[in-house]
Amino acid sequence: MGAERTDPPATVAELEEGLRQLHRMEMQTKLHLERVEALVTAAIKVLHRAEIVHEKSVEAEAAEQRLKIVEARTGDARIWVGPEVDKYEVESPEIDCASLMHLCKARCCRLSVALDFKDLDDGLRWEYSRPYELRRRADDGYCIYSEKGTHRCDCYDKRPSICRTYDCREDKRVWDDFEAKIPAPWRDDVGVAPPLVQIRMPKK
Ligand code: SF4
Ligand code: SF4
Repeated sequence: MGAERTDPPATVAELEEGLRQLHRMEMQTKLHLERVEALVTAAIKVLHRAEIVHEKSVEAEAAEQRLKIVEARTGDARIWVGPEVDKYEVESPEIDCASLMHLCKARCCRLSVALDFKDLDDGLRWEYSRPYELRRRADDGYCIYSEKGTHRCDCYDKRPSICRTYDCREDKRVWDDFEAKIPAPWRDDVGVAPPLVQIRMPKK
């Protein structure tokens, strides 16, 4: 018989901290992979300049391989953590959402948003099957904080950094032509569960 445990069971807070650590590690692995990708890309360019390989043929081969890999991994679980920035300090693009909402229907709020740990501390809800993606409604694909009808953000003061910094003006999922105020064709499938994941990225 094993030794009897004398330490108290882990608390929810300890378990959550452990999970966050795992997810942080996952993000670091992703960053390492990005660095490797950059190195491989640079090596191909150097070889191309030296006329040892042709960049285009490598790109075509890589694109084909990537497609196969993505297809093979459809359904894999993934962890997605928002950018580590202070959301209360970031700058928002100057877009008059209130005057455009009747055209865009706030479709930015149907795109996937990654929460960061501050957002979790602020109590924002996430999709349990896709940590830590901001939760969206199953019936219309909008973020759960987007008020039905008005599209008002119910968590405006606590909204994630991606919501604060996202710039829709060049996003072809949102506008065919922002200056001419022509929205992109409406898509029923975007964001509706099971979701077609449409990542909403912060402004670079
Ligand atoms: S789609 Fe653009 S204009 Fe419309 S609410 Fe979102 S950020 Fe504002
Ligand atoms: S948190 Fe607010 S701004 Fe962000 S997607 Fe949801 S409703 Fe839109």
